[in-house]
Amino acid sequence: MSRRFVKVYRPEYTNPAIGCPTLHLELRMWLLAMDRMQRGGHAPLGSGELQAILTNDKGEPYSAGRYRQARLSLIKAGQLAPSASARCLLVPHGVASMDAKSAQKREECATHKHNIAWDDAHGDWMFRTMDEARRWEAECDNIARGGSVFPPASWAREVRERASQGVNRLKPSAA
Ligand SMILES: [Zn+2]
Repeated sequence: MSRRFVKVYRPEYTNPAIGCPTLHLELRMWLLAMDRMQRGGHAPLGSGELQAILTNDKGEPYSAGRYRQARLSLIKAGQLAPSASARCLLVPHGVASMDAKSAQKREECATHKHNIAWDDAHGDWMFRTMDEARRWEAECDNIARGGSVFPPASWAREVRERASQGVNRLKPSAA
């Protein structure tokens, strides 16, 4: 699969369209995910924050079912990861990924307990451990500094498989 990589600059302040009740809730929820997205695609929200930000034209929250319905529509459309919730609007790696230094734009995701990206092409987490994820991010930072294209998730999977084979070889034989 070939991908074209473009850089998207988003303002540091919150996108005002998130609060615009004339837009579909699905679109606003996705804009909120983009707004909150950290490196690894996690978009953490505080308790009740989703309901406080995405309100109807009277400034009141929608029903719990309406938020769930919007989230499921976005998951079905592949724009949020299957484990996205009201506390983390997880964006799959194939949809958007963040190019930033490892130490920046990172917030520990309280919901998923890690910041590993969701690999939508394979329906699995991109890495097994945070250490692997950090090594991958450092590699991406090096590539970005060299001016090359951002590597796709399939490359990350190859790196992961090579690493796990290396670990297996190091394991003492059971025989
Ligand atoms: Zn998360």
